[in-house]
Amino acid sequence: MQTKGNISIHAQNIMPVIKRWLYSDKDIFIRELVSNGCDAITKLKMIKGDMEEELKVTVTVDPQAGELRFTDNGIGMTHEEVEKYINQVAFSSAEEFLKNYTGEDKGGIIGHFGLGFYSAFMAADKVTIDTLSFQEGAAPVLWESEDGMEFTMQEGGRTERGTTITLHILEEEKEFLDAFRVRQVLERYCGYMATPIYLEDLSPKEAKPAPSASDDETEPHVTGTEEEEKQEAQKPVNDTHPLWLKNPRDCTEEEYKETYRKLFHTFEDPLFWVHLNVDYPFNLKGILYFPRIKKDFGGQDGQIKLFNRQVFVADNIKEVIPEFLMLLKGAIDCPDLPLNVSRSFLQNDGYVKRLSAHITKKVADKLNGLFNTERKQYETYWDDIHPFVKYGCIRDQKFFDLVKGSLLLKSTAGEYFTLEEYKARNEGKAEKKIYYTTEANRQAAAVALYVNKGIDVIVLDTLIDMNFMSFMEFGSGNDGLQFVRVDADVSGLTEDTEEGKDIDQAQMEKLFRDALNDQELTVKLEALSDKELPLMLLEDEQMRRYKEMSAMYGQAFDFPAKYTLILNRACDTVRGLAAMEDEETAALLCRHLFDLARLSSRPLEAKDLQDFIARSNQLIALLARK
Ligand code: ADP
Ligand code: MG
Repeated sequence: MQTKGNISIHAQNIMPVIKRWLYSDKDIFIRELVSNGCDAITKLKMIKGDMEEELKVTVTVDPQAGELRFTDNGIGMTHEEVEKYINQVAFSSAEEFLKNYTGEDKGGIIGHFGLGFYSAFMAADKVTIDTLSFQEGAAPVLWESEDGMEFTMQEGGRTERGTTITLHILEEEKEFLDAFRVRQVLERYCGYMATPIYLEDLSPKEAKPAPSASDDETEPHVTGTEEEEKQEAQKPVNDTHPLWLKNPRDCTEEEYKETYRKLFHTFEDPLFWVHLNVDYPFNLKGILYFPRIKKDFGGQDGQIKLFNRQVFVADNIKEVIPEFLMLLKGAIDCPDLPLNVSRSFLQNDGYVKRLSAHITKKVADKLNGLFNTERKQYETYWDDIHPFVKYGCIRDQKFFDLVKGSLLLKSTAGEYFTLEEYKARNEGKAEKKIYYTTEANRQAAAVALYVNKGIDVIVLDTLIDMNFMSFMEFGSGNDGLQFVRVDADVSGLTEDTEEGKDIDQAQMEKLFRDALNDQELTVKLEALSDKELPLMLLEDEQMRRYKEMSAMYGQAFDFPAKYTLILNRACDTVRGLAAMEDEETAALLCRHLFDLARLSSRPLEAKDLQDFIARSNQLIALLARK
């Protein structure tokens, strides 16, 4: 007897929603149907215990019939169950199942995805369910629907326990009749499901690239790619025991690396990793890998794959993982996450907050652990991980509080210090100041002045560093700590000597102001430790940073450069200049010295460069005439 009917009212509301998905994430119907097969198997196992036959889901690609079939040898459905779970209830019925069959262990069944079965209509113009329940004496059922709203139902001919869902694929979705494409989707969404999943390809042989003729002739025992294909088909598409579900004690380093390479289709190795393994007070399993992070990591996305009971859900769920951790790569499985709720709900969910706090803490623990027990090794990682760590500190005060003792500063000499170590090493030389360079090569002259005085200069040359410095100065409770670029200050470089003390500062200022035609210029006399250096051009630290910040955010204000010219009164050249009577030559020298000072931090441009060259020739001519 055949029955016809309309699928419950809900369906009318659901179909448009499903169709809308078509445009965003249509692959997911495969995930839904495969995970229903897996659920059916889990249910059977719960009732029957372990069974001898292999319980599996097979996905069959049959281009000739225009069909994609999902077969499982799980629990199957009776007439009443199809009626109830498919016709009446479009949403999850797993809860109800649990109440009926076990009452206790809820592990591993509840599908959170809501739209489940009906997503089949995203890609099909006809869907059939051919099913036989495990129950003694149950009759097979054949259900059919063309639009997900009207169906027919009759007794079927199936003799084996389980279910086959057949999708007659829509003309415009023909890609799902391509085994390669289907394998891709299976690997993405079902790659770590708990039940073995096989892909069966019924494409006609001639449609596939034939093995080249020469191969066949030269190698007698090549039985063709058919053999290979069979072997491939005998292997499940998925890994039913992902590493992150294992006890960390049972995982080897090679296994971690292999999982990384597999997850991210890469040949690169991660630097190190954190294995998350919590059962209480919430359930969380996962591995977070520290990848090699490129220098300016802006735009570089990490990838954390979110699973729900081994079913892949999404790549980066910002609401679950603290934003700064998104630079990491890995997989986490949160079985308790309410995935069918809105993202804004997740954001405010206490469970999610605890989850993300836990992840943050674990990552911090890992860094501190490395710092404390493998300092040298940790230092080798620092260049790769510091943008991530610094970003984390800025974004999350808790993270900063946890890792602040393990933050390193890298010196121009390639040594690594903590803040405390830096302070101790430079005690008495760099009062509460950290001297740094943004470009060790360009600023080499200024760097050398400090290094020669025994002061460590730190390299802070990534985008994040500018923000990080401000954070450390203002946001971290480090009262009075100051980052000073090597060309912003000479206080650490001056000597207490009498040399040149008689030079008149006002006179020198006027000399330079006139020569350079800049009446705003500030000139100061100091005795620098390097006697060979006549002058240094200092640029105000805060002003420069402000300028750089605005440039970074696309506001190109033309700030007046605020320079101070430091004349080294301990240098013979300066003393000579002060005593010089030939005003014209003095002015020439002033301009030249000024250019030299500028040159030591950046190249001269166009007009300035031309002037510089012309003046050099002029000076050489002067000397030659002597
Ligand atoms: P959910 O999986 O969240 O319960 P679905 O729409 O995916 O929602 O499925 C609805 C119900 O249909 C399932 O709960 C299950 O009872 C039944 N069902 C679907 N596919 C199968 C299958 N392959 N074997 C047995 N029962 C199934
Ligand atoms: Mg489902």
